[in-house]
Amino acid sequence: MLLSDNLYVTRIEQSAGEMGKLDGKVALITGAGSGIGRATALLFAEEGAKVAVADRAPAGGQETARMIKDSGGEAIFIKADVSKAADVERMVKTTADTYGRIDILYNHAGINSPIAPIAELTEEDWDLVLNTNLKSVFLGTKYTIPVMLKQGGGIIINTASIMGMCAQTYISPYCASKAGIILFTKATSVEYSKHNIRANCICPGFITTPMTEPWLPSVQMDHTPPGKAGQPENIAKAALYLASDDSAYVTGSSLVVDGGYSAEWAVPLKESPAQG
Ligand code: NAP
Repeated sequence: MLLSDNLYVTRIEQSAGEMGKLDGKVALITGAGSGIGRATALLFAEEGAKVAVADRAPAGGQETARMIKDSGGEAIFIKADVSKAADVERMVKTTADTYGRIDILYNHAGINSPIAPIAELTEEDWDLVLNTNLKSVFLGTKYTIPVMLKQGGGIIINTASIMGMCAQTYISPYCASKAGIILFTKATSVEYSKHNIRANCICPGFITTPMTEPWLPSVQMDHTPPGKAGQPENIAKAALYLASDDSAYVTGSSLVVDGGYSAEWAVPLKESPAQG
């Protein structure tokens, strides 16, 4: 459970009756049983959306849906493995059947890569990461677009990574999957803008979640403004921007939310110049 869960509960109760940025909208969020996906589901609900919480992990997904409902919001949990076409098709159909539409699709679920040099990776390693991280985005988009076309438009948000823009050693399948998401997002935007469908992706840096907790303390973060890793809420707020009318003229873009971490990679210095 996130440290800030209680904060969200309080906010949803307080905001009852006020206008939210997503009032009347329906959002389908994958990987919403944990970390960034959960924080986004809670924030979207706080802003008035009905949320379909999708995850392969029933305990986490049901907990997210319960937290939303306990706070006066509307949510359902859908168990789905996003790497499997039949699961994704059913996930989309269940959401559309339950709420009548899908205004926002957030393809967020993903996994880390096995850590190994390329020559030591197996075909199974590659397929697992690419299917979970990249094929899932294709499948979610493929099955949701007909719903969006029927209702006259929609918004698609995908989770990429700063590792999709620059390579990190020994996680090549992860980097390739995230780079693929960045271009697939542009392709979606190019093909469907004329149908009032916007598609954008978020490139998070290092965010404290169950996925990163085991190794995050070993990452040097002292050049980011807060001097530490980001929180799931930092990404949830970026997703809210992309999901709302605030980003009405934004599509095909990759929004980097990394505390400035990737800004330094472009100019690696062997030594720091003397400080003036
Ligand atoms: P997280 O807390 O581990 O949440 C990911 C959720 O997605 C988990 O509930 C996980 O279930 C679920 N999931 C994994 N594979 C799935 C599948 N095949 N079908 C359905 N659900 C699945 O991690 P997170 O950091 O919040 O979010 C992960 C996403 O953010 C990934 O796309 C990742 O690449 C991206 N991201 C994270 C960071 C970061 O620093 N945290 C940075 C850049 C990008 P299990 O618990 O069963 O695995």
